[in-house]
Amino acid sequence: MDRFPTTIAGSLPKPSWLAEPQVLWPAWRQEGEEREAAKRDATLLWLKEQESAGIDIVSDGEQSRQHFVHGFLEHVEGIDFAQKVRMGIRNNRYDAMVPTVTGPLRLPARVHQAEARLLRAHTGRRVKFTLPGPMTIIDTLADGYYGDRVKMAFAFADLLNQEARGLEADGVDVIQFDEPAFNVYMQEACDWGIEALHRAIEGLRCTTAVHICYGYGIEANINWKKTLGEEWRQYEQVFPALARSRIDQVSLECANSHVPAELMRLLEGKDVLVGVIDVASTRVETAEEVAATIRGALRHVAPERFIACTNCGMAPMERGVALGKLRALAAGARLACTAP
Ligand code: ZN
Repeated sequence: MDRFPTTIAGSLPKPSWLAEPQVLWPAWRQEGEEREAAKRDATLLWLKEQESAGIDIVSDGEQSRQHFVHGFLEHVEGIDFAQKVRMGIRNNRYDAMVPTVTGPLRLPARVHQAEARLLRAHTGRRVKFTLPGPMTIIDTLADGYYGDRVKMAFAFADLLNQEARGLEADGVDVIQFDEPAFNVYMQEACDWGIEALHRAIEGLRCTTAVHICYGYGIEANINWKKTLGEEWRQYEQVFPALARSRIDQVSLECANSHVPAELMRLLEGKDVLVGVIDVASTRVETAEEVAATIRGALRHVAPERFIACTNCGMAPMERGVALGKLRALAAGARLACTAP
């Protein structure tokens, strides 16, 4: 092996001509067909940047979604976006205005077919697609219909399964569900969150993954992390259940993190997407720093199970910084395979 395979958690910054830069809910710069064309251009741009930087498993960088949860919800029937309710989400870490579920949930059409087919037509590399996980979705919505949040989560899992089967048919190799909520509601994740993911992956033959993180490098998260103490042991509660699950890969935060590295041992038998790029810092890591993080993690993860990744998405980052971090990721993954 000349290097460890590389991929990214999911999102990349949108070019400033597509959307307002460096914000989590950016306003689009275009309308209608012009906007769709601009999203397509940005997706191709980041595909090429990932390839040139040396990323092996490439993604659309979520260029077509305003937000990682609402980009999916916009396509779902049964949600009233005009009926917004103020709600504390992720256990009150953020105060958000969220839409309300007002009827039976249905997905009348495909969500990401255009982006998936675009990537497949333009790259020979493995393609990964991200979708929000059921538990994270229901934590970002008010319920005015189901009267049972778990039941609502499984209704979303059915819709995610419908889209995931479509993505697989489009030629996508890896489908990843983003579940930051697993790090907040650890007991619920074990009680039903992983079962909801099983519903979402039912019948898939492609590789499946779950991403569990401590969030984007935004102020609300940085403040929350300060309350978690010296050692972050949230993963300890969820990883053993994930190790027994039918999900193939787990994407986690490692670089500059207070997560004890030995917790990765709890994922034995799974491919581990180790976050070796810090998304909460605008400083671009050197290849040597990335290689050092990889070597440290290799004390706990089998080399054949190791995939070098970013801690989380890079959506709110400055574009040049994100590009620098992609290059550092690939360079570090190569360097880690040479003698230290
Ligand atoms: Zn994340």
